[in-house]
Amino acid sequence: MAWKQKIKKSFIESDQKRLIIKFSLSLSLIILLFLLSIFTGLMINNKRMIETEILSRARSHFQNIVMTRSWNAGYGGVYVEKSEGVQSNPYLKNPDIETLEGTIYTKKNPALMTREISEITSFNRDYQFHITSLNPINPDNAADDFESLALNSFEEGLPEMYQREKVGDNTFFRYMGPLVTEESCLTCHEEQGYKEGDIRGGISIKFGINDIERNLEINRRLIILLSVSTSVLLLSIFYFLIYRLNKNLKAALKQIKEMAEKDSLTGLYNRRYLFDLGEKELEKAIRYNYEMSLIMLDIDFFKKINDTYGHKAGDITLVETASLMMRCMRNIDIISRYGGEEFLIVLPGTGRDGALSAAENLLNEIRTNEICISNKNTVKITASIGIVSRDFSKDAKIISFYELIEFADKAMYQAKDEGRNRFVII
Ligand code: GH3
Ligand code: MG
Ligand code: MG
Repeated sequence: MAWKQKIKKSFIESDQKRLIIKFSLSLSLIILLFLLSIFTGLMINNKRMIETEILSRARSHFQNIVMTRSWNAGYGGVYVEKSEGVQSNPYLKNPDIETLEGTIYTKKNPALMTREISEITSFNRDYQFHITSLNPINPDNAADDFESLALNSFEEGLPEMYQREKVGDNTFFRYMGPLVTEESCLTCHEEQGYKEGDIRGGISIKFGINDIERNLEINRRLIILLSVSTSVLLLSIFYFLIYRLNKNLKAALKQIKEMAEKDSLTGLYNRRYLFDLGEKELEKAIRYNYEMSLIMLDIDFFKKINDTYGHKAGDITLVETASLMMRCMRNIDIISRYGGEEFLIVLPGTGRDGALSAAENLLNEIRTNEICISNKNTVKITASIGIVSRDFSKDAKIISFYELIEFADKAMYQAKDEGRNRFVII
């Protein structure tokens, strides 16, 4: 194959390769982005659902305490028997009363009740809560940083506040809601200057969310694992399909190329492709002052084989003659089927002597070769050859490839006229 042809072919192949790589990369990127968005969405949604769940748990705790306090405040505080271990509220003016029978009861107002329940829940470790205000009667109810921030925000109209808090290895969820002054609160808190509707303080809720955080992390890892394995699986399937497609495409292209360049019966180059290659070889020979020869070969009395043994026998003869020529000629020679039983061979870099000995050798091989056309029959054939040879180092006259073929054809007809089974050179 001519070197220019090779370069052109490699350009087409690398273009095709580049196109397939570009297509594969773009589609991979789209698949990856698609999967990434699905799994990120899944992760965000999962996290949001858990956050909502945590928040509603905190709100529910808050509401429970507010309602309990409201029940207590509705009665202006409740009295419990002052048995052993029961303390009186030091911040109330007259917390204790004594019955006629001599039993002492002490008043549990909402603040004290809240603190005592808080101590129980803190002991249970389920959740903790803390009643607090920026201006507490009881110094134990002073606000910490989060609570102060929340209380100040309530003053500015924020309805609630929450955040995660990390203490050592533990993570807590903190929630705070405002305590709005109701009529029943004023009994004790009017002295502090509060009016109905004022934000008097707040209740903060705190509970551990280590388990939830751990589950969230496990979920996150599972989603990442799932997304990576799905991506790998999908991309592997995709690349396998691309590989198969590319393989089939290459085979189809090869077949199309062969159909465009080769004769389907003999596998030799066809007439159209011969002109492509021949013209290039002639150009080279003229440019670099090489010799070049053409051999036109026509099988003698070929029609007789068809008529005697049938068309199939004729086809076998053509195929056998083609493979004999391939065996006899050099790799650089271009062998083509020019017409029905006519073959044209281009011999690049070959002068008169080389072409003569090639033709003589070819005729000898053809006439001695027995072609098996069926189980019973063999035939022997002869051929007539016309040769044209030019040495471009001596003869600079420009000639076309078509003109060279015409000379070879003329010589071949002369060989027929002179009795066949021979060659004639021009
Ligand atoms: P000559 O020695 O003068 O060349 O005689 P010939 O019989 O070889 O030449 P002619 O031109 O009279 O006949 C050629 C025949 O080749 C006619 C055509 O039917 C036959 N032929 C052409 N192509 C094919 C083919 O592909 N297969 C077969 N079986 N026959 C073919
Ligand atoms: Mg012919
Ligand atoms: Mg013939």
